[in-house]
Amino acid sequence: MPLVLKKPIPAEVVRQGRSDVSERVAAILDDIRVGGDTAVRKYSEQFDTWSPESFRLSPARIDELIDTLPVQVVEDIEFVQQQVRTFARHQRDSLTDFEIETLPGVHLGQKHIPIDRVGAYVPGGRYPLTASAHMTIVTAKVAGVPSVAACTPPIRGQIPAATVAAMHLAGADEIYLLGGVQAIGALARGTETIDRVDLLAGPGNAYVAEAKRQLFGEVGIDLFAGPTEILVIADDAADPFIVAVDLLSQAEHGPDSPAVLITTSEVLGRKVIEHIEALLPDMPTADFAAPAWRDHGEVLVVETLDEAYALADTYASEHVEVLTREPREALEKMTNYGGLFLGEGTCVSYGDKVIGTNHVLPTRGSARYTGGLWVGKYLKTVTYSEVVDQASSAQLGEVCGRAARVELFEGHARSGDVRAAKYAGAQLPW
Ligand code: NAD
Repeated sequence: MPLVLKKPIPAEVVRQGRSDVSERVAAILDDIRVGGDTAVRKYSEQFDTWSPESFRLSPARIDELIDTLPVQVVEDIEFVQQQVRTFARHQRDSLTDFEIETLPGVHLGQKHIPIDRVGAYVPGGRYPLTASAHMTIVTAKVAGVPSVAACTPPIRGQIPAATVAAMHLAGADEIYLLGGVQAIGALARGTETIDRVDLLAGPGNAYVAEAKRQLFGEVGIDLFAGPTEILVIADDAADPFIVAVDLLSQAEHGPDSPAVLITTSEVLGRKVIEHIEALLPDMPTADFAAPAWRDHGEVLVVETLDEAYALADTYASEHVEVLTREPREALEKMTNYGGLFLGEGTCVSYGDKVIGTNHVLPTRGSARYTGGLWVGKYLKTVTYSEVVDQASSAQLGEVCGRAARVELFEGHARSGDVRAAKYAGAQLPW
């Protein structure tokens, strides 16, 4: 059992909050299904006090907004998008289409087809999350998606110009200033002015993540990428100040963002808590980081690093930083995480903002069964078959007839029978 130096709030309290979110989201989505644009506008007014004549930005308006930005901001966006593009292209190249011959003249193939139309959600209720535009849109374009409709909310009534620039430079085909459940609902179901998409991608707060979850099936979703999480594994060689700073780097996302430290050093654990308490009061984003740390911060001390890896796997955290003497050991020993950050030279913030791996990553334990957003999420892996050898088709037909009758599928069986009869002279058994 780990020694607990700092506990989070009890799980029942967290679950209680989630069910409220779920009901509210269901009601908004129902309303949008019936009311279309009118309902979308109503919720945009209610949650974002935002009701322009058109939610879609015109090309001229996009250019005007980009012109308001310092050159350095645009250059940095271009730099980061290039890092994301390079990594995504390598992912695309690693996916191979193939065709093999399994029996004489029996050709089985696999290919990857880009999804036709994608909705990219770029969150921005609290901060202009420019980087989410790189992650969702650049990656979709590398995958070859022909139509990307991108949405981001206004921030306290203002248009986030840097985010719009990032969406445009990433290659978005349509840009809407619309946030939250109303954006997700409009993209998934379509309205009079917004065509529906085939897949929704992108992170967001608990409302956005819940809306995607509820719509899954009607529309594809990339993954469950809700409020961000960090877990740090540290030994006694780690720098406690850096551990503290990195834990707070993710706590500032929102008051529901967990920040967990698992360490083999009680001394380090206590120092990290002291640093966090000293840093928080002066942090400009303390309004979010302080409640996140108070309610969802945890510090656990274990005996060995193997225990730390095993315990971290049970959290299946979105981000895991490994600040130990041998950080690459985690690559072999851990199985449940969205992204691993190995050693002090990198950090979650690099992953979030600059390094090039995708920052849209699984939360709330979904790293047990999925990785993060990547080119493959925008591609359909499809298969096909062709049989050009009649003897092989007859052989398959005979087996198909028998196999289908075991399942009591007479119709399936007959498709096999007719080929066996036509190509090899077998008697029809009916
Ligand atoms: P957001 O764009 O996700 O949400 C803003 C919208 O929430 C607003 O437009 C508003 O319409 C809606 N909203 C606010 N209060 C509401 C209410 N009471 N009822 C219904 N709707 C309401 O922006 P955000 O809030 O800043 O959150 C961004 C989130 O994205 C953070 O939680 C962050 O951790 C997360 N994130 C996750 C990842 C990941 O990969 N998992 C990556 C980046 C960001």
